[in-house]
Amino acid sequence: HAKERGRNAYQFFRPDMNARAIERQLIESSLRLALERAEFVLHYQPKLDLESGTVTGAEALLRWQHPEWGMVLPERFIHIAEECGLVIPLGRWVLREACEQAVRWRYSGVGQVSIAVNVSAMEFRHHDFFDHALAVFEATGVDPACLQLELTESVLMRDVVASAGLLAKFKAMGVQIAVDDFGTGYSSLSYLNQFPIDVLKIDQSFVRAIDGGLEGNGAIVSAVIGMGRSLRQRVIAEGIENAAQLAFLKQHGCSEGQGFFFSAAVDADRLRAML
Ligand code: C2E
Ligand code: MG
Ligand code: MG
Ligand code: MG
Repeated sequence: HAKERGRNAYQFFRPDMNARAIERQLIESSLRLALERAEFVLHYQPKLDLESGTVTGAEALLRWQHPEWGMVLPERFIHIAEECGLVIPLGRWVLREACEQAVRWRYSGVGQVSIAVNVSAMEFRHHDFFDHALAVFEATGVDPACLQLELTESVLMRDVVASAGLLAKFKAMGVQIAVDDFGTGYSSLSYLNQFPIDVLKIDQSFVRAIDGGLEGNGAIVSAVIGMGRSLRQRVIAEGIENAAQLAFLKQHGCSEGQGFFFSAAVDADRLRAML
């Protein structure tokens, strides 16, 4: 046992763990500066109607253009922003930028474009979230009907009553609600009827499993598609990477999708060209 503890104590001070702590610290302090220095940008991944191939909207995905590190993806910094509270000002910037972009697209002649915005747990629970969103809608002149909020199951489930109340307020404004990474959360299906959900986004892990070689791999995907249909929710498949996955999804009646097979997230001008 002493040996075990000794090894653990040693591991705690392993140089690579130290490096990780240092990186975390570095990212946190750089994040604070990044907001002031306007180093963030939104990229947009198109969502397509699988039957016609037309673009039905886009998901806004946050990118950090660090002057030295280059483009930093959210998985490297979102959880840190969440832990240190910076995700609140960051999320506010994202919402405002997405609304302004929707208005820019509208005036550039491509019409109403539906933009999905990812909302983190801390943002959703923040007491000011709804009022702030309302102020952004008014300030930018965006039509809230072209906005979609993406929330994960765990965020919704944390406080079911509060979530339902908040979602109802957004719905009354015309905002659409999507459940992101559907199927990966630790939740019961019974809430699906209690929340005013417009869209289920099938998590990419299930889409990847479609052509993973094992029998029954598409079963979860087809079950979710069927469930969405009977609950009158739109179903969007995430992470479509090849023709086999696309064929399966179409065959099972999935109406929309996004993924590298069509396009990764691109900047606003390139997305406009796809519209
Ligand atoms: P998400 O909302 O589930 O977004 C989908 C992620 O999958 C994106 O990664 C996207 O680039 C990636 N993706 C899309 N198609 C494919 C594909 O065919 N194959 C593979 N392997 N990946 C694909 P990204 O942009 O790195 O974002 C990761 C996560 O970070 C997002 O997952 C979301 O949870 C979070 N995130 C991104 N932007 C924001 C934001 O503005 N605010 C908050 N709170 N979270 C954000
Ligand atoms: Mg998302
Ligand atoms: Mg997702
Ligand atoms: Mg995700």
